Amino acid sequence: MKAISGIKPTGRITLGNYLGSLKHFKEYQNKYTPYIFVADIHALTLPIDPNEIRERTYDLLSYYLASGLDINKTVLFKQSDILEVGQLNSIIINFIYMGELSRMTQFKQKSALLNQEAIGVGLFTYPVLMAADLYLYDCDVCPVGEDQVQHVELAREIERRFNKRYQTNILKTPKAIVSKTGSRIKSLSDPTKKMSKSDDEHSKGVIYMDDDLNVVRKKIMSAVTDMDSKVFYDPINKPGISNLMEIYACLKNISIEQVDDLFKQCARYGDFKKEVADCLISEMQVLQERFKYYRNNKKYLDEIFEKNAGIARKSAQTILNKVEKVVGLK
Ligand code: ATP
Ligand code: MG
Repeated sequence: MKAISGIKPTGRITLGNYLGSLKHFKEYQNKYTPYIFVADIHALTLPIDPNEIRERTYDLLSYYLASGLDINKTVLFKQSDILEVGQLNSIIINFIYMGELSRMTQFKQKSALLNQEAIGVGLFTYPVLMAADLYLYDCDVCPVGEDQVQHVELAREIERRFNKRYQTNILKTPKAIVSKTGSRIKSLSDPTKKMSKSDDEHSKGVIYMDDDLNVVRKKIMSAVTDMDSKVFYDPINKPGISNLMEIYACLKNISIEQVDDLFKQCARYGDFKKEVADCLISEMQVLQERFKYYRNNKKYLDEIFEKNAGIARKSAQTILNKVEKVVGLK
């Protein structure tokens, strides 16, 4: 059994990325062979400095390793090393409708911030390229944050249409797996909004995994909450406190109900926030040290990309070859 997931090298990794995806990857290593990639082609869907992509690509691989991914169990690779993904994208793009793509939440949110006359087509067709990634490694599951589930479902629609047209079962969409806690971390300054790495860098609402640990404490202590003082889970009326509870549950690997129990006697939000900050800082400290170790060894990182490109490409070629035959290109 295989698992697939990726992160874009588009900015500093956030606590949302960490709790929603990165932290869980290593759990899959014993049950599945994970294919985890740096989604560098996807990074081009909004204007980005070339050096930013290059540097963030090394950052991401270092985070993958720092979070406990083992190169003997996991295939860590770069999306752009697999040329087959572009070819498959060009074929399957004919099996999705413009109406479907225009209804994607991510497209609506990201395009709303742009000049309406200058919305890149790549931003629009982002889920198609993602579908190509999902098919090429013959994977069974796909661990993602909640925001990506819609895209996985769209891939399933492409699969259904394609397989029906050609009476085949070549395309296979892995099942989206969303962790119970951590899959929808919100901004600390606006807890109704998703925490994203493309948010304003100076926002107090985003915790970056490379933030100075004193800054992390300040951000948690000044997280927006309600006027009440009771700690309990109620995402509608208490989005700020519920978000912090979710962060704590995920860090401690316990359920929201257990967090409820632990803090129901807590009389002050400040005490609860301090607990969250302590817990987060101790986890981040270890991650940051391990990150530094890998990030300083570019040669080792290059070797990993090179070796794994070969492994990933083998699977990609097999699937693409079948697709090209069935549609008449071969
Ligand atoms: P961008 O703003 O550039 O889209 P992002 O923070 O959304 O950045 P991605 O590279 O798009 O990051 O996503 C990487 C992974 O992180 C995906 O699995 C996504 O679902 C997950 N993820 C992103 N934001 C959150 C969040 N706030 N909570 C939980 N998971 C998240
Ligand atoms: Mg995103």
